[in-house]
Amino acid sequence: MAEKSKIAIYPGSFDPVTNGHVDIALRATHIFDEVIVAVSHNPNKDYLFTEEERLMMTRETFRENGKISVINFSGLVADLARKKKAVAIVRGLRAVSDFEAEFQLALMNRKMNRDVETVFMMTSFRYVYLSSSIIKEAAQHHGKYEDLVPPIVLKMLKQKYQS
Ligand code: ADP
Repeated sequence: MAEKSKIAIYPGSFDPVTNGHVDIALRATHIFDEVIVAVSHNPNKDYLFTEEERLMMTRETFRENGKISVINFSGLVADLARKKKAVAIVRGLRAVSDFEAEFQLALMNRKMNRDVETVFMMTSFRYVYLSSSIIKEAAQHHGKYEDLVPPIVLKMLKQKYQS
């Protein structure tokens, strides 16, 4: 009997996408047949980059990976998972501090869609302290962060902060 292909959604703000995100998405491709990176847009959130910019940078970053596709979405991840027939929602965990909010989110998602499991992936050691916020802070103050983001993100941040 032919096995159905296993699809996972990896949702996030990706404002901007970092090497920590890339690491999680790539590792997810070792477990799932297809990983859909879903760039979210929440009108109540303040972003540095527009939805189009976040989508463009994330697409460019994963362009050469045949198992990863990038889409944008607004609304509930649970609904997106249903629409895409995903078996899992992937989230990354860095520290205990991530846990509480992620736990709550996972329980809500399960309540809204019983057919999808949230899968937490532990960060790689070298990305424990990496977040989009830290990168934005470093870029704004011309710190060193070149090895922590994909080339397109470096280019866009340099443009934004003219360094
Ligand atoms: P959100 O606003 O949905 O938290 P983010 O873009 O900040 O979106 O993060 C998306 C997902 O990636 C979250 O599950 C977050 O915990 C995870 N993540 C972000 N940075 C890292 C990192 N350095 N290592 C592992 N996971 C990460």
